[in-house]
Amino acid sequence: MGLMEGKKGLIVGVANDRSIAWGIAKALHREGAELAFTYVGASLEKRVRPLAGSIGSKIILPCDVASDEEIASVFELLKEEWGHLDFLVHSVAFANKDELKGAFYNTKRDGFSMAMDISAYSLVALTREALPLMEGRNGSVVTLSYYGSEKVMPNYNVMGVAKAALEASVRYLAADLGPLGHRVNTISAGPVRTLAAAGIGDFRKIQLVNELRTPFGRLVSTDEIGSTALYLCSDASTGMTGEILHVDCGFHAMSLSVKEAIHLSSNS
Ligand code: NAD
Repeated sequence: MGLMEGKKGLIVGVANDRSIAWGIAKALHREGAELAFTYVGASLEKRVRPLAGSIGSKIILPCDVASDEEIASVFELLKEEWGHLDFLVHSVAFANKDELKGAFYNTKRDGFSMAMDISAYSLVALTREALPLMEGRNGSVVTLSYYGSEKVMPNYNVMGVAKAALEASVRYLAADLGPLGHRVNTISAGPVRTLAAAGIGDFRKIQLVNELRTPFGRLVSTDEIGSTALYLCSDASTGMTGEILHVDCGFHAMSLSVKEAIHLSSNS
């Protein structure tokens, strides 16, 4: 019997088969979870429907997380169809491409608000609507962050600020939900070439530095991020909340890598 047998969850943030949320969905499905999906817009619907169908999911709903009405109708439908919810995966972020390059001080007021709204506040709004369905089920909420929240990452700019707000929101939500028996955790993932990542200036260079610096000398895969999300959604992690788990092949633990140190000493 799979780790997730009998559990039902909502995955928000699949855009295509390269999405981190898809890596997560595959891991949860493999262990027996029943999944519902959301998408934004007709072009992504065309990609999400077949993917969700390929793992037997029947609930595939539109949801722009900037809309309280769309969020509410997703959970109304889940209530009708399932009656309850065991986990929520939030794998959503957005900022204007222009604000993901160059100087952070050029961030405009509306760009700043939008990045915060879609990338951080949406976790709060989705969690609030999920709560009534999680009653009595020791629910789990998992979101995705990035190291650019902790340290400056060139070009990540307003998204770094939004991820810092997201991580703080995780801690406040963990405090709110703990007495109800639910937990809220974050995965801080290493760089993965996805649709969202394509908007970040010099993203390939960020990946190259990661490859050089991580103890494993390689980039993390969406399957590896999926396995960690599986752990956080499963009963294996019932003792953990308010946590940030770095799934980045160890990048966050390094200052300089051995390879960089050798390179610097051979050039001195
Ligand atoms: P992705 O493009 O596959 O997924 C991003 C998702 O956000 C898409 O499904 C998109 O439809 C959704 N989205 C954007 N605006 C939305 C809105 N208004 N309403 C609803 N959904 C909306 O890219 P990804 O890299 O898989 O991103 C998933 C999460 O992982 C994001 O939070 C991202 O910041 C985070 N993350 C990504 C990386 C990386 O290198 N790719 C690293 C660490 C964390």
